[in-house]
Amino acid sequence: MPPPSDPPPGHAGGVLRIDLDAIAANYRNLQARLAGATCGAVVKADAYGLGAAKVAKALAEAGCRDFFVALIDEGVEIRAALPEADIYAFCGATAETAAALAEYRLIPALNDLGQIEAYSAYARTRSREAGGGDGSGRLAALIHIDTGMTRLGLEARDVATLADNPRRLAGIEVKYVMSHLASADEPANPLNARQLAAFNNARAQLGNIAPASLANSSGIFLGADFHFDLARPGAALYGVAPQPGVPNPMTQVVRLQGKILQVRDVDSPMTVGYGATHRVRTKGRIATVGVGYADGYFRALGDRGHAYIGETRVPVVGRVSMDLITLDVSKVPPDQAVPGGFVDLISDRHPVDALAEEAGTVGYEILTALGRRYHRIYSHGAG
Ligand SMILES: *Cc1c(COP(=O)(O)O)cnc(C)c1O
Repeated sequence: MPPPSDPPPGHAGGVLRIDLDAIAANYRNLQARLAGATCGAVVKADAYGLGAAKVAKALAEAGCRDFFVALIDEGVEIRAALPEADIYAFCGATAETAAALAEYRLIPALNDLGQIEAYSAYARTRSREAGGGDGSGRLAALIHIDTGMTRLGLEARDVATLADNPRRLAGIEVKYVMSHLASADEPANPLNARQLAAFNNARAQLGNIAPASLANSSGIFLGADFHFDLARPGAALYGVAPQPGVPNPMTQVVRLQGKILQVRDVDSPMTVGYGATHRVRTKGRIATVGVGYADGYFRALGDRGHAYIGETRVPVVGRVSMDLITLDVSKVPPDQAVPGGFVDLISDRHPVDALAEEAGTVGYEILTALGRRYHRIYSHGAG
């Protein structure tokens, strides 16, 4: 295998390197911050675009046993990779989806009283048909309480209704009571303490029926009060900074290199790209790279984004096209910007959060948009 500095040319316009060892290191880093709690891993959306099965296996090798997905199909993919893991699905359960959830031993987050009713009914029918007595046939689930997202989860009056009649949970084994933080990346935001209080309150109302799960990546950094029994980090595992404004304690996971297709010496005033948004005033050198918005290199990065060639920072000039970007490489030594060579679009020097900032978005969106046309290289166990 060629060394990391020398990607195989291939036919792709870009090379995407995903460092599974870095993901494992980030997992251990987060687990070490959790005093009494277990660290799970969120691998929804194809592990934030990085490849769910490969990422989940690497995390399992690092000691992770609890995996969270959004959709049933995502859970089915993880189940195939990890027959023994506990796999939780945020999507909930309905009368239509209950059988699939049970078949793949997925643990749904039950998000409202209707979902609790549907899953309880399915669990009781199933256990009756299997001839099981009480208890053994129960189906595992999470109870999701909304404490301030106003998105999914039981609201306060639903918690009261459930507390008044715990029989609604017949046939269900509550593995964890969970909630989700809205502003965990802003430690000073009073909403964090309000959600924590609401969560503790709801758990007490339900008689502390099960262990609890609250923290996402950023929530882990809010302190031990937020850790409970099981943490659910996603982004930080993949190198996204959990606390904006302070040095990122996570290891970078992704390196994205774009291939230089052509280098153009401009020696008279000229415009670059669609809409002629960039003008070369006197002279300069423009490199055209085979990555565009169809690869998830957002159009918002036109005349805004930056890349690196070696040590030199090179700006994106002109608009981002579907398959191409143009970079001003005038400051790069000529032998370093040549067709067939590579530019670093995401790297330790210009991490995913920096590119996100230039695009006016968050690292989450950069990762989950990473295209399918890249030549993907996974490094694992190679150090
Ligand atoms: C996506 C998600 C997470 C993970 O959040 P990160 O900010 O990526 O750590 C945790 N819990 C729920 C309910 C989620 O939807």
